[in-house]
Amino acid sequence: MTLTSNPMAEPYKIKMVEPVKITTREFREKAAKEAGHNTFLLRSEDVYIDLLTDSGTNAMSESQWAGMMLGDEAYAGSKNYYFLEKVMHDCFGYKHLVPTHQGRGAENLVSNALIKPGQYVPGNMYFTTTRAHQELAGGNFVDVIIDDAHDPYNTNPFKGDVDLKKYEDLIKRVGAEQIAYITIGVTVNLAGGQPVSMANLKAVYELSQKHKIPVILDATRAIENAYFIKVREKGYENKSVREILREMCSYSDGATCSGKKDFHTNIGGFAACNDDAMAEHMRSMCVVYEGLQTYGGMTGRDMEAMARGILEASEDHVMAHRVAQAEYLGNKLIAAGIPIVLPIGGHGVFIDARAFYSHIPQEQYPAQKLANDIYVHSGVRTMERGNVSAGRCKETGKEFFPKLETVRVTIPRRVYTQSHFDVVADAIIDLYKQRDKAKGLKMVFEPKYLRFFQARFEML
Ligand SMILES: *Cc1c(COP(=O)(O)O)cnc(C)c1O
Repeated sequence: MTLTSNPMAEPYKIKMVEPVKITTREFREKAAKEAGHNTFLLRSEDVYIDLLTDSGTNAMSESQWAGMMLGDEAYAGSKNYYFLEKVMHDCFGYKHLVPTHQGRGAENLVSNALIKPGQYVPGNMYFTTTRAHQELAGGNFVDVIIDDAHDPYNTNPFKGDVDLKKYEDLIKRVGAEQIAYITIGVTVNLAGGQPVSMANLKAVYELSQKHKIPVILDATRAIENAYFIKVREKGYENKSVREILREMCSYSDGATCSGKKDFHTNIGGFAACNDDAMAEHMRSMCVVYEGLQTYGGMTGRDMEAMARGILEASEDHVMAHRVAQAEYLGNKLIAAGIPIVLPIGGHGVFIDARAFYSHIPQEQYPAQKLANDIYVHSGVRTMERGNVSAGRCKETGKEFFPKLETVRVTIPRRVYTQSHFDVVADAIIDLYKQRDKAKGLKMVFEPKYLRFFQARFEML
């Protein structure tokens, strides 16, 4: 399966480099203050190692860059669209492809096509943009993930699984016709990049079919999920990542996908489905919100790079390397006693900020503070995935105070090397030694939607 004895060894060599700026602590203190202690508001050029997100931050291959030169920028019927459609069929297996500018565009189309105001939309833990679109379409999100997912130290290998009992109870309580669809995130970003097992996908699909409830995958990191099934679920060890991906998608009726993650590109996304009427609805919304149904907000060259990226990312050894990088960083932190979410996920390492800064109460945003402190200490940018990201309840206006209050140390694909991860680990370990000195934050500006992107804070 892997070509070398060490999957951490990069399965590529470097052809072009991008210099990074090394800054002083005084410089970073000022930059953090100007950014309202929100790492989303920092300027990228003031960051040394950027682990804010794996979204759109990937390094493309020479084949992808070469493909960009083959962009067919026709308004309608670009040949790159038809190639992307073929690759999507081969790798995911859905009948219809609707391209979008990125994942949230696809979420908007699916939410609009399937939700009637007042309906419920269960899911295995929320994702920020997914839930926002479901709520804007009049839906009510209900979390039906297994309880294990809310416990950072539970080592269930498939912590993303749906709790069938919670799902069935919801069906009984509100009636199947009041459920628009169920979203299954594969993997579950906010739980720490945790995968869903094939057995669970199959069981959820069977139960949903019985009640005529559509199953929509958030397939943004489905290729990573397929790799976890290969190495963790009995019976799949000799199947290829691509075969597993096809089987996963066969237990669903459609998917939304951000092209900025697993597909090794910097922009793009799509919605996909099997039902003709749903595809027709999404295509008519696509021309309103995204662009013509054969480009949906992407250029021809973007679609070519994405198709090529899907083929590269779904090779077994490419995923083995990706997961090995996350494990390398995670294991270094574990060895130093740093509390992180277990098992180590696919796209990064999630630090348990409530345990790290156990003296800072959740209403003072310990994860937000820790992300700030990591930047000030080392120039490494990470992001908050806790109370700020969770936002407020639509009905009561109260903050959610999620059980998981984490800092996500996210790994862009093919961008950083082992020595970068050593620097990151050393910085976090250093900070842990002086954790008692840290104080919390106060939110001084709170946007109405997806507040974590633009909120501003002051030090207490
Ligand atoms: C990034 C992401 C999205 C949204 O995709 P965008 O391309 O950023 O709009 C949806 N779901 C998950 C799990 C994601 O990680």
